[in-house]
Amino acid sequence: MSDCIFCKIANGEIPSATIYEDETFRVFLDLGPATKGHALIVPKQHYANLCEVPDETAAKAFILAKKIVSYMKEALPCDGYNIVQNNGEAAGQTVPHFHIHLIPRYRDDHAGI
Ligand code: 5GP
Ligand code: ZN
Repeated sequence: MSDCIFCKIANGEIPSATIYEDETFRVFLDLGPATKGHALIVPKQHYANLCEVPDETAAKAFILAKKIVSYMKEALPCDGYNIVQNNGEAAGQTVPHFHIHLIPRYRDDHAGI
C-alpha cells in the first residue's frame, strides 16, 4: 500500500524510534504514547486487520509481543503492561495497517486505557 504510513515506517522509508527489527516486523515507539515506552509491533507486509494476517505471522507477532514485554519489564522497568489490538474504526483503529500496542504500565500511572 503506497499511501500507508505504517508500510513506510515498517520498511524504513520513514524514520522511527525502532526498538526491534527482523525480516517480518518492526517494533517502534508510538508517536502519541499512552505511557512511557508505548511501542507498536508492525508487520512489514500490509494487512488491514487481524483477520487478514496469515496465522503464522499472527502467531509470530504474539510470540514477539511476549519477548518485548519481558524486555520492557526489566529495562524500563514497568510494573505491568496492556496489550491492545484494535480492528476497525468502530473499535478505535486509526491506522488501517495491523499492529499490536504494547503499553507498559506503572503503579498509579492513571493512563486512560
Ligand atoms: P490505532 O488507533 O490504529 O490502534 O493505533 C495507531 C497508533 O499509531 C496510535 O497510538 C498513534 O499514536 C500511532 N501513530 C500514528 N501515526 C504514527 C506515526 O507516524 N508514527 C508513530 N510512531 N506512531 C504513529
Ligand atoms: Zn500498510
